[in-house]
Amino acid sequence: MSVEDLLGTQGSRKGILFLLSGPAGSGKSTLLRRALDEDRNLVFSISCTTRSPREGEVDGKDYYFLSDEEFSKRVENNEFLEHAEVHKWQYGTLSNAVIDILNDGKDVIMDIDVQGADQVRDCKDLVISDAVVDIFLTTSNTVELEKRLRGRGSEDEDNFQLRMQTAVDEIKRWRDYTYCILSGDHEEDFKVLSSILATERMRVARMAP
Ligand code: 5GP
Repeated sequence: MSVEDLLGTQGSRKGILFLLSGPAGSGKSTLLRRALDEDRNLVFSISCTTRSPREGEVDGKDYYFLSDEEFSKRVENNEFLEHAEVHKWQYGTLSNAVIDILNDGKDVIMDIDVQGADQVRDCKDLVISDAVVDIFLTTSNTVELEKRLRGRGSEDEDNFQLRMQTAVDEIKRWRDYTYCILSGDHEEDFKVLSSILATERMRVARMAP
């Protein structure tokens, strides 16, 4: 294969599906936003959820906000690549959108809980299973996590306790991921994530047609 052929395959490769999991307070949303702002080849997978929008969240941009009935209908129609209940609400990723983006050669990044990540890893569709790269983001201890979550100030006490309990359970799953980012400051986290993205994009297995 000539160098020209090699460079040609770079342009025609299938997209990578980056799963980003981590407990509430780990800094996932901030990291995702920065990665999406700075990386033109990265597309955010917009999830469906039954929870209500928070202040500033936009339907069709942050989430598709669905009623319980609408969500259940999509489950029945097998439209979800994965779906799970998190903090009493339903969350799910629509298959078609993700597959279309990957086939288009663009990389997708998903904000996904540990249950959803399990389901995506188990997916038998080759477009998905060949594309998956799973990344876990966490603080090195729960004290720091609690501090960050309290600092966010977006939860009432009941919700806070629920999120903290889920977080403690989620952290136990870090070994199931290929990469684990131990969260430092925003800059450090971004550098580590960017280097994982760059490394995965250079894998020869993804270049050859
Ligand atoms: P939040 O309500 O704070 O936006 O998200 C709560 C949790 O739901 C986070 O852990 C987030 O990773 C997870 N989540 C967001 N979208 C999805 C999704 O499409 N599928 C699954 N399984 N979890 C999701």
